[in-house]
Amino acid sequence: MTWRFALLVAPVDAADTRTDFSGTLSVIDPDAPALSVGELSTQRGDGIFETIGVVDGHPQEVQAHLERLAHSARLCDLPAPNLSQWRAAVDRAAAECPAGESAIKLLLSRGVERVATGLEGPTAWVTASPAADFTRARAEGIRVATLDRGLDSGAAVRAPWLLLGAKTLSYAVNMAALREAHRRGADDAIFLASDGYVLEAPTASVILRRDDRFITPEPTGGILQGTTQLSLFDWLEENGHSTDYEHVPAGSLADADGLWLVSSVRLAAPVTHLDGREMPVDAELTAAMNAYLLSPRD
Ligand code: PLP
Repeated sequence: MTWRFALLVAPVDAADTRTDFSGTLSVIDPDAPALSVGELSTQRGDGIFETIGVVDGHPQEVQAHLERLAHSARLCDLPAPNLSQWRAAVDRAAAECPAGESAIKLLLSRGVERVATGLEGPTAWVTASPAADFTRARAEGIRVATLDRGLDSGAAVRAPWLLLGAKTLSYAVNMAALREAHRRGADDAIFLASDGYVLEAPTASVILRRDDRFITPEPTGGILQGTTQLSLFDWLEENGHSTDYEHVPAGSLADADGLWLVSSVRLAAPVTHLDGREMPVDAELTAAMNAYLLSPRD
């Protein structure tokens, strides 16, 4: 099914208390040109985004995504988004999503640079489209290669201008990492810090299991705090497991009792092989995780 829906958003001030934002949201033709050639998001990747999973018309964990959008905006010195306006845009886009799985993207760009008049912005838009099909990755698992990200785990604090904890539109490096993983015969990658700690995947968070403890690398600025990981940790706790944030040495990954990549649209994909070595997979637990992740979550 190929359908797509798009909304242009005229961003209002974060302090604006109006309750009806319909006048600030314009439905546009998703196949027609919509952005100026001076757009800094396309010229420099200078903007931020969020991808929200939608199941049977219900957008999942919207508040967590909006809070991360606001966090990314702060790190990038972008104007603070009005979260009520963005929620209205998400609701408008979700109303267009048919039964099954879809994805809503929120994009906030610094705007358009004009030589004579300077910066015009920000620019914002929202799209909805069918979700990529991850049924097989969820059920059969994925092969993962570890890749050095070339920065140590102190880089985010030492050099905040690298924007390591922001979900920016500069994903060329993340896409290059995926291509390198494919060259190594894997489906996906896990980034390692140069001092040997586990970070995240190019488009997902990493969760590992040690006995009955589920662990994810501490989000100390160098990685994104995943909304799926947060939601899954709540579910694991409710189901009698313990969860923790830790500095995870790369060498300990291979000894894990289970390893998953989790994100909003893929949900939970178990890792079957890490750098070619077979990993234990709990198919029943993974199916239960995905059943939870597919249920309506707020
Ligand atoms: N880390 C990175 C770099 C990502 O791009 C993503 C999602 O796209 C995640 C983690 C997982 O975030 P979420 O669970 O909110 O989708």
